[in-house]
Amino acid sequence: MQFPAEPFKIKVVESIRMTTIEERTELLKEAGNNLFSIPAETIFIDLLTDSGTSAMSDRQWAGMMTGDEAYAGSRSFFKFEKTVRDITGFKHVIPTHQGRVAENLLFSLIANENTVIPSNSHFDTTRANIEFHKGTALDLVVDEAYQPELELPFKGNIDLNKLKKVIGEYGKNRIPVCMLTITNNSGGGQPVSMENIREVSKLLKEAGIPLFLDACRFAENAWFIKTREKGYESVPVTQIARELFSYADGCTMSAKKDGLVNIGGFLALNDTELARQITNYLILIEGFPTYGGLAGRDLEAISIGLMEAQDENYLSYRTSQVRYLADLLTEAGISVIRPAGGHAVYLDARKFYPHLKPEQFPGQVLVTELYRHFGIRSVEVGSLMFGKTNPETGEMILPRLDLVRLAIPRRVYTTMHMNYVAEGLKELFKNRAKAKGLRISYEAPVLRHFTARLEEIV
Ligand SMILES: *Cc1c(COP(=O)(O)O)cnc(C)c1O
Repeated sequence: MQFPAEPFKIKVVESIRMTTIEERTELLKEAGNNLFSIPAETIFIDLLTDSGTSAMSDRQWAGMMTGDEAYAGSRSFFKFEKTVRDITGFKHVIPTHQGRVAENLLFSLIANENTVIPSNSHFDTTRANIEFHKGTALDLVVDEAYQPELELPFKGNIDLNKLKKVIGEYGKNRIPVCMLTITNNSGGGQPVSMENIREVSKLLKEAGIPLFLDACRFAENAWFIKTREKGYESVPVTQIARELFSYADGCTMSAKKDGLVNIGGFLALNDTELARQITNYLILIEGFPTYGGLAGRDLEAISIGLMEAQDENYLSYRTSQVRYLADLLTEAGISVIRPAGGHAVYLDARKFYPHLKPEQFPGQVLVTELYRHFGIRSVEVGSLMFGKTNPETGEMILPRLDLVRLAIPRRVYTTMHMNYVAEGLKELFKNRAKAKGLRISYEAPVLRHFTARLEEIV
């Protein structure tokens, strides 16, 4: 079936406040055309992120009631530990309140000014945690990842030749770990093949370098392996997940993605000495090792969510919903990254507004117009997020692409919501010639996209 219907029925609903175009125009003016400064209550469909925005199931909510809040040795921890061990096979399971804390714990102990840490593409918090400890983060994704319209099954793969070169250059003394982000969030949510994971693992084993997975979307990645990689058609997703973890020595995880919860994460690994050091540091910054910054009820909800995320009916629906939206847009002549990733659709804003220069923030123009006319929130991943102004010349240094990401929260929106988003975009596309560019009127010295103010160029 092209698009399986939602494999759940809705037991609890949350009303969305409807706003008018006049109200939203006023809000945009107050917010300096920055969607990070718009109250979420005034948004009709919020596609800002898929992180921590999942709808929990009735079973997860039931788990919230039965969570054990003991400070040490909580029953919910042991259940959580067993679930993570069953899925990953790793010996030591360390709960954290978000994925980036798992990264912080790991890199605090292994990264320094001499270390080089390769990945397919580092997620921004991963890169930031490495760089904060003065290490060097390298992105070695295959070149095909930079061709948005090229339809290939595994555009998240690491380039083995690039990896070999990096290993040859720095060796195991300077590479404490190699990361692999599954699916590759910064590269459009594209999956990594089992073959690639296996070969990366082999190369690293020969060199004596451990492999860690950034496993936030491991279940979505496993589903793509099942549906796109030869030999896995009839292997259950749980077994595929177990196999992909078997090639690694550890993982960092944000349970806010494939844990189907609103907060949580963990670090899991086999190295007993490293796990001991990490646990000691955990007590300092997060909490006792059997709760790690979370409540017992959160651990309970994560244990249940991690299993639900591997349900194949759910994964089929989940990935088809994202693809459905991408296909509607492609059919309408709107350029999106192909194939659709696991968690989001990425629009090519320079192609959407060919009359706007990259310096005029075409991505941010699309984000503001989508909110103004339809109450939809998306996020710019382009000149505003990654561009920089040279303080001496005032000249803009621009990224390769101006993308707009429509991240789809898990189990939250229906097919009709997706149709609404597609119809809205089609209408904007029809009237695209009327859109005016933006310029920055205020920017902070770092991470400017969160607080920048922009005004229309008239
Ligand atoms: C979200 C995310 C993280 C960080 O997790 P948080 O829970 O937001 O701290 C790390 N890596 C990837 C690939 C992510 O998507």
